[in-house]
Amino acid sequence: MSYLSIQNISKLYPHKKTKALQDFSLDVAKGEFIAIVGPSGSGKSTLLNILTGFEEPSSGQITLADQEITKLAPKDRDMALVFQEYALFPHMTVAENITFGMKIRKTAKKERQEKLDWVTKELGLTEVVNVLPKNLSGGQRQRVSLARAIVRNPKLFLMDEPLSNLDAKLQDQVGDLILATHKKLQATTLFVTHSQEEAMSLADRIIVLKDGLIQQVGTPHEVYEKPQNRFVAEFIGRPAINLFPFSKLPQKLQQQFPQESKKLVAIRSEYLHIREISHKDGEFTAPLEIGVVTEIRYYGGSSILQLAWQDSILSVKTYQDTSNLMGQRVHFTFDTSKLLFFDL
Ligand code: ADP
Repeated sequence: MSYLSIQNISKLYPHKKTKALQDFSLDVAKGEFIAIVGPSGSGKSTLLNILTGFEEPSSGQITLADQEITKLAPKDRDMALVFQEYALFPHMTVAENITFGMKIRKTAKKERQEKLDWVTKELGLTEVVNVLPKNLSGGQRQRVSLARAIVRNPKLFLMDEPLSNLDAKLQDQVGDLILATHKKLQATTLFVTHSQEEAMSLADRIIVLKDGLIQQVGTPHEVYEKPQNRFVAEFIGRPAINLFPFSKLPQKLQQQFPQESKKLVAIRSEYLHIREISHKDGEFTAPLEIGVVTEIRYYGGSSILQLAWQDSILSVKTYQDTSNLMGQRVHFTFDTSKLLFFDL
């Protein structure tokens, strides 16, 4: 049996017609890192609140480490939460914040000190153990909040947008730290985020939610390369996946995929390949198309081009030198093995 088993959880709030969560089922192995992604209102917080016990599901069952917990009080569930808001006690030092829970649970002083020393070293907080939260940076506060969760050694870590209050650099740093501690502790973690980038870079598996319904469960690679529907294809990946009607595909490609003729074609920006028209040595096997470069965004190493093609604009990611391409007509091809087809 799986370590965490969520079976057919639904939640209907009073006075609402639609369910915030519909028949949500998921089995999580011990030590797995799961990211839950979805746009605002997709049911992420509802799921977390049901897991922590702050909300009761309308139906369904949850089992954690062989114990049914569906109706247990939050304090009896042995889960630690890390929020977007750090929720630290402002009048307590870093050390006091981290050890407070252990004190309440009457953990021996020696053990408290050992855990404090270990976790502050692991998370780079040794210099600030005696500092009050107001004198810490955002990244440090989030690390304290993480440290407090870690020393509890809970059965389950729940993280609710823990990086979203941090600037880009700190998001990377704290994200790395979360991953490193996760690997070290093999802590089973559910991480809620609206950011598909965070989910892709941190998780073993991703759950994509929309309107309370699971759209796909898969590894980051699976949800990126094999999205199960148009919503997942568009939600995962930046720049957004290119979409256009089948009738726009070059004839030769249409003939290759006759069974998809009623569908929408999708292709990620890195699977379109451009060549300057003057280029003579290019040996393309797929049919050549012509587009006009209308915009170039350089990201250092790679660029994203906007290509006007028929009456669509396609995004193309390239590592080529694009400095002379603005306004130019270019040849491009589709990597046919990467074409995706979705119902309209
Ligand atoms: P997310 O966290 O993905 O933004 P939520 O779980 O907060 O989504 O919300 C899912 C749906 O449930 C939304 O339609 C929201 O309006 C509704 N909802 C959330 N909490 C409540 C509540 N306490 N009462 C009524 N409706 C709620």
